[in-house]
Amino acid sequence: MTLPRHSRHGKDSADPLQVLSTVFGYGAFRPNQREIVDHVLSGRDVFAVMATGGGKSLCYQLPAVMRDGVAVVVSPLISLMKDQVDAARANGIAAAVLNSSQTPDERKEVMADLGAGRLKLLYLAPERLAMSGFLDRLSTKRLSLFCIDEAHCISQWGHDFRPDYMKLSGIAERFADVPVAAFTATATQAVQQDIIARLGLRSPFVLRASFNRTNLYLEVQRRARGGERQVLEFVRERAGQSGVVYCRTRRRVERLAEFLKAHGVEAAAYHAGFDDATRVAVQDDFKNDRARVIVATVAFGMGIDKPDIRYVVHADLPLNIESYYQEIGRAGRDGDAAHCLLLFAPGDIAKARFFVDQTEDAAHHKAALEKLHQMAGLASHNVCRRRRLLAYFGEALEAENCGGCDICRGTAEKVDATVDAQKLLSAVARTGERFGAAHVVDVVVGAGTERIRQRGHDRLKTYGVGRDKERSHWLVLAHDLVAQELLAQEGDRYPVLKLTAAGRDVLLGKRAVTVLSRRAPRAAPKLATPDEATPYDTELFERLRGLRSRLARGRHVPAYVVFGDRTLRDMCRKLPRAAGQMMRVHGVGQAKFEQYGEVFLDEIAAYVRQKGEPGQG
Ligand code: ADP
Ligand code: ZN
Repeated sequence: MTLPRHSRHGKDSADPLQVLSTVFGYGAFRPNQREIVDHVLSGRDVFAVMATGGGKSLCYQLPAVMRDGVAVVVSPLISLMKDQVDAARANGIAAAVLNSSQTPDERKEVMADLGAGRLKLLYLAPERLAMSGFLDRLSTKRLSLFCIDEAHCISQWGHDFRPDYMKLSGIAERFADVPVAAFTATATQAVQQDIIARLGLRSPFVLRASFNRTNLYLEVQRRARGGERQVLEFVRERAGQSGVVYCRTRRRVERLAEFLKAHGVEAAAYHAGFDDATRVAVQDDFKNDRARVIVATVAFGMGIDKPDIRYVVHADLPLNIESYYQEIGRAGRDGDAAHCLLLFAPGDIAKARFFVDQTEDAAHHKAALEKLHQMAGLASHNVCRRRRLLAYFGEALEAENCGGCDICRGTAEKVDATVDAQKLLSAVARTGERFGAAHVVDVVVGAGTERIRQRGHDRLKTYGVGRDKERSHWLVLAHDLVAQELLAQEGDRYPVLKLTAAGRDVLLGKRAVTVLSRRAPRAAPKLATPDEATPYDTELFERLRGLRSRLARGRHVPAYVVFGDRTLRDMCRKLPRAAGQMMRVHGVGQAKFEQYGEVFLDEIAAYVRQKGEPGQG
């Protein structure tokens, strides 16, 4: 492997914006990137929580380019490191990786480059740091910074603790004048404190960015039986796009993959039961667009940072909102619109409980059950999906209408439930707002429990008014009314239901209530981010995509390492004719221009000639 020729982005070009443009080809920073970059450049420790696709890599790659010495990047997954190194090299950054998958000769070469100060970025798995003498060797090198990626892996309270990450304990203390930047996409406040303490960060600049990924469209559909037909229809409408379909069990994975293949979809199955070689092959096929649809258990995804995943389907209910968020988070990293579809049938809650019930520790079990109910609530109530998702992470959504979910877009089928809501609310009122959902529902369905008789609740006017419907119907409705803030739930140990002002309005007939219908929904709307919606020549776009695939195949890199879709669209709009114009296209930096600029300019010129010069008819 030869290192990319490293152009001098030293102290003489001390403007991050300049480097952003010449090395990465971007015209502007994404939210929060500038702040983080500035702090790292100034030598300060940083702890940042940023959603997937927020652009974390740039936050350490750019300072790595600008600061003296080599940046050491610790990352948990070998497969991810290789992609990162490829992408950095494509931008002309001298990057290398050291890991156990290399031959001794390859490692020797990297060590030689490191020794000679030729590297700007060095990716490592945490176990490497534990190898005897390795830290000592590093300490003799000029280091520009440490970057700890997926930093939540160091916390036992996080959802993905990795013992190897403990090797990083106190890293900041050991390398007194090297800034440490720690990144993660998910960390509660407690996990954040734990990470900072374990790494020993020195009064770090802390940033918690929004969890809101506005380019993800969130939709829940009522699943018909196993959902095979729905998934088939969904992926067929998105032929040529990359997507992941998650199922809970290996058996479901295999069946659904077979079903899709039998109907002509290029699908591949993936789960932890396959051997390593098979799994690596499936991942590679997906990355290089040879397999468009991966049907998988949640074992799939950690090592994948393919930026152009256009959809994620959950064929089964996820066990909690964290998992759901992490899995849908794999879609749309490039910032283009992506569709997240969850297929849900109320019976799923019982099936999911089966998994939750395997948890033996009582406290743990209770928490897991509560999380499952929150997930089910997100799937079943008539409340903006995004609002619920963000609320789970303690974030409020300012806009009334998020514009990016089936509830807010009005595609979810809703039905009037005012009369049922009044029955329930009235039962709450008549029992004095002193009981929980279970008891209130007992009153509505006219249950003959001991408690009902003792309290004389069988003499209430509302006793038994909801006999005609299942108990579960009323329970779901009660939770829906809480979610819609028509009822408030108060008290921790024995939560009781109380009417809110809006709930009273419903009782007084001044306000209607709708809930989600249990029928299949209308077709989802076509999605586009503002960039995608800005017109461009789609015929040229397809041509450039073809060129991109040929180049990528020849170089054994995924297509997106050559150029992203957004870059191609920008070319289709700007129709660059000369180098200077090409360099102004989004995503075209110096190194990429040198590698691909001319070929793309030629292709565009050929197309324009063929179509006749614009303006000449
Ligand atoms: P994360 O690691 O936070 O999930 P990445 O670092 O993989 O995100 O970045 C996601 C995508 O956004 C990548 O394709 C990256 O090239 C792109 N990107 C990052 N910063 C910018 C920027 N300032 N302008 C445009 N695109 C950017
Ligand atoms: Zn919404």
